[in-house]
Amino acid sequence: MAANVMLKFVTVKRDMPAKRAAAERTEDFGEIYREFAAGKAREQAGRCSQCGVPYCQTHCPLHNNIPDWLKLTAEGRLREAYELSQATNTFPEICGRICPQDRLCEGNCVIEQAGHGTVTIGSVEKYITDTAWEEGWVQPIRPGVERPESVGIIGAGPGGLAAADMLRRQGIQVTIYDRYDRAGGLLVYGIPSFKLEKDVVMRRNGQLEAGGVAFRLGVNVGEDVSFDAIRASHDAVLIATGVYKTRDLGGPGSGLPGIVKAIDYLTASNRKGFGDSVPAYDSGELNADGKRVVVIGGGDTAMDCVRTAVRQGASKVTCLYRRDRANMPGSQREVANAEEEGVEFAWLTAPKGFTGGASVTGVRVGRMRLGVPDATGRQTPEEIPDADYTEQAELVIKALGFEPEELPTLWGVPGLEVTRWRTVKADFLTKQTSLEGVYAAGDIVRGASLVVWAIRDGREAAESIMTWLDHRSTAVAAE
Ligand SMILES: Cc1cc2nc3c(=O)[nH]c(=O)nc-3n(C[C@H](O)[C@H](O)[C@H](O)COP(=O)(O)OP(=O)(O)OC[C@H]3O[C@@H](n4cnc5c(N)ncnc54)[C@H](O)[C@@H]3O)c2cc1C
Ligand code: SF4
Repeated sequence: MAANVMLKFVTVKRDMPAKRAAAERTEDFGEIYREFAAGKAREQAGRCSQCGVPYCQTHCPLHNNIPDWLKLTAEGRLREAYELSQATNTFPEICGRICPQDRLCEGNCVIEQAGHGTVTIGSVEKYITDTAWEEGWVQPIRPGVERPESVGIIGAGPGGLAAADMLRRQGIQVTIYDRYDRAGGLLVYGIPSFKLEKDVVMRRNGQLEAGGVAFRLGVNVGEDVSFDAIRASHDAVLIATGVYKTRDLGGPGSGLPGIVKAIDYLTASNRKGFGDSVPAYDSGELNADGKRVVVIGGGDTAMDCVRTAVRQGASKVTCLYRRDRANMPGSQREVANAEEEGVEFAWLTAPKGFTGGASVTGVRVGRMRLGVPDATGRQTPEEIPDADYTEQAELVIKALGFEPEELPTLWGVPGLEVTRWRTVKADFLTKQTSLEGVYAAGDIVRGASLVVWAIRDGREAAESIMTWLDHRSTAVAAE
């Protein structure tokens, strides 16, 4: 069955003009392309039973007032629904597209738990906000008063952007520094465009810029400008740099050409989508077209890699994961999507080494079984002796997760305390770090997490920064 789907994809790609093939692909794969028509949104919103125990709301990290905006949508009062939805979420149209709703709001819908299928909350949230953009209800920020204080934000991912939005609304002068050439962080260069269209992110960047947020892109803090210089230029600083250090693989042949990092592979694909020149893609180094691809890992990044490889025309895509399906960290919905698209999953397998000469030709795979539970209660995978086999591959993608970079060393700021996982130590509530006036939010504090948590952190950090600036100006006035 899976192979048939793959064959269908390959046939579409090879035999048809590109435009038509793209249209077919859209039909075959494009859950985000499906028009969520007004009638459908209202119908879905109307399915909410207004149960009075809104587990959906408590399991949404932003505690969005879901039942109320569903009710307003069902009644056709879309502008009010939008106002309510954007009051707690800076980027509802983005969360509506890429939150793992099956683990958050929708997974806790009482209708779902009663076995009748969840209200598709994320799709309604996306629909409400897309309509707001179309109708011109989303406008650039116009603060009531301009304040003299400035805040420097390092990192233009969802955490940094959400904080910028909140601060600017209160009249603060905000400058965002990012080493990439576009703002958005993993929203632009990590998450593939079949899950999140890039113009949706660029539209938000434009709105922030039009509202007075200054972007200094292509600036790598620690290299192009020092952290201390940024701190000296602003009243407060927010660190929202995410986590980018790839967990690596060892074993014989692990350095062979053709074994690449997930972030490099996905960035190349996203850049290509923007129309950038990407020599490593054009040379085939970061392009799956016509290749047998093995992706190693079981999280959402691995799912993005396998699904991108399918779209690039890989002849076969296999995902190796050392535990079984039930223990996979990635969203089950993403796994089901990948399977539907023809990806083969080799559960309970782990790479032991790589074959090849000038470049990789295969992965030496060990078979695993689940052994005794560890301290967390999770069964530890252990190898089955003498059961190895080789999976042929011309491209191997390492998607084993990300860790924080060593910021205090990289930036020469020993006073910036980090945890034993090298994430920045920040107060749980205020997001303040060990340095006065310096706050931190998003993945750099939590470790690799979710967009919706980064948004929440950014919003909370902005609130704390405001409180700190207000206290400081009151204290200065009293002197
Ligand atoms: C492939 C992939 C797919 C994902 N898919 C999903 C998904 O479907 N749904 C979901 O909810 N989450 C997903 N996530 C997780 C989500 O993207 C992150 O949790 C979220 O982006 C974290 O936001 P952030 O603002 O903390 O950091 P980031 O988005 O990583 O942004 C950090 C920014 O800081 C910049 N930066 C870093 N260091 C410096 C420096 N020294 N100087 C200047 N700038 C710097 C970076 O360039 C970047 O732009 C995915 C992650 C990956 C890797
Ligand atoms: S932000 Fe995410 S978790 Fe919250 S309601 Fe929207 S889709 Fe659900």
